[in-house]
Order: sequence, then C-alpha cells, then structure tokens
Amino acid sequence: MRIPIIAGNWKMNMTIKEGIEFIGKIKPSVKGTDVEVLICAPYVMLKDLVEAAKGSNVKIGAENMHYEEKGAFTGEISPLMLKEIDVDYVILGHSERRQYYNETDETVNKKLVKALEFKISPIVCVGETLDQREGDLTKDVCKVQIEGAFNNINQDDVEKIVIAYEPIWAIGTGKTATSEEANEVIMYIRNVIKGLYDEETSEKVRIQYGGSVKPSNVEEIMNESDIDGALVGGASLKADSFVELVNF
Ligand code: PEP
Repeated sequence: MRIPIIAGNWKMNMTIKEGIEFIGKIKPSVKGTDVEVLICAPYVMLKDLVEAAKGSNVKIGAENMHYEEKGAFTGEISPLMLKEIDVDYVILGHSERRQYYNETDETVNKKLVKALEFKISPIVCVGETLDQREGDLTKDVCKVQIEGAFNNINQDDVEKIVIAYEPIWAIGTGKTATSEEANEVIMYIRNVIKGLYDEETSEKVRIQYGGSVKPSNVEEIMNESDIDGALVGGASLKADSFVELVNF
C-alpha cells in the first residue's frame, strides 16, 4: 500500500511570518486526511515551520540542499544542518534548479546519497521540456534522469525515495498533462525502477505528479492507478486551496 503524498513547494514566495500563519491555519483542517501532508519551504523559515507544525500531521521539507556535510561552499546548506532542525523531506533536482543552477543528474545523485545517509526523505524530480515532449522524447528523458539519480542506490533504500514526475511545460503555466498521460509516464518510470531493481521494489516507490495541479483537477489526477500524490507550486500558496488539495 503506497500512502499518497501531497506536497507544497513554496519556492521563493512566502515570508517567515506568512509561512507560520499558513501552518497554523491548515493544521486543524488537514488532520483527518489519509494522505501524507508536506510543505517544502525556503531555508530561512524551516526551523520556525518545524516548530509551528509540531504535534500535527504536517511535515516540513527543504527545497534543495548541498551534497557535502560541511566545507567551503559559501551560501550553501548541508544535510547535517537540515537534520539538526528536524526537517523531514528535501526536494532534489527540481527543474528550476536544473535550469538556473546547473543541477545535473550527477549532483542529484550525490544529494540523494547524502539525504538517505542523513535520513531525510528525498523527493527526486524528473520531467521533460516542451521540445523534448514534441520530439517524442519524454520517456527517454525520464529514463536517463532516473538512472542518473539512482546510480549506486541500494535496493533497501529505494522505497524511502519519492519521485515527482513534473513535465516542465506544465509547471506554473496552467497547462497540465491529462491525468491519463501523466499516469502513462509514471507507469513507465515505475517500469524503469523495476528494470534497475525488481517488481516488488518498483511497486513500493511513490511517484507524484506535478505541474499546475489545483483543487479543480486534483481528484482526477489522484484517481489514476499509479499516481501517488502531487507536488504543487502555485496552488500551495493559499491555505484554503492547499487544504482543498489535501482533502480532495
Ligand atoms: C512545481 O514547481 O513543482 C510545480 C508543480 O509548480 P505549479 O504547481 O505551480 O505548476
């Protein structure tokens, strides 16, 4: 049984004050849900959000981290630092990090190894650009990204990893893949995991869809056989809309 996970990705959008208020607002309204509830937020507010979420079923994650524990990496944040403040999750390889900050499959892999070592649950993002989709390369791109990220990852660790399939052309654009299209790619990704490990392992991995998920389309997406949740940007910024997503 894979427990679905609905995760917000606030990106660079909330102040600390707004973030704390948001957590206070959603806590009572999401406590009855069967899905795992997660908010991923900028580093500066993580400690406050962990505190604000205490005693509730709301988990807190980072949007990125470095792959080294410590060292001369000005401006970076390490897994050791995230662990110290009890962060539950970390997003790795989001397309915006790949596009603007030179994130590669190799650095995603290094970060994945470290997140697992520090017992921070990773969400690994994969997905194709519009050009790649139009060139019928969606599956090839996802395969390369998954194989790169999972390089030398032990079979026992695979079920601790969440994958987010996020077609880049659907992020923040209002365009979504149809739920059938998303499910087809997600089934394919599960098959790639099966090829790398085995069927039992592939059936345990949770694979989310991300890309303009909102209250009006979440149910359809979540009803698909292989979609185990959503990674949500824009619609996670308002408490009411996030609560609707979680209680779809
Ligand atoms: C995202 O950034 O991961 C995302 C899916 O954004 P949005 O929901 O705004 O498309």
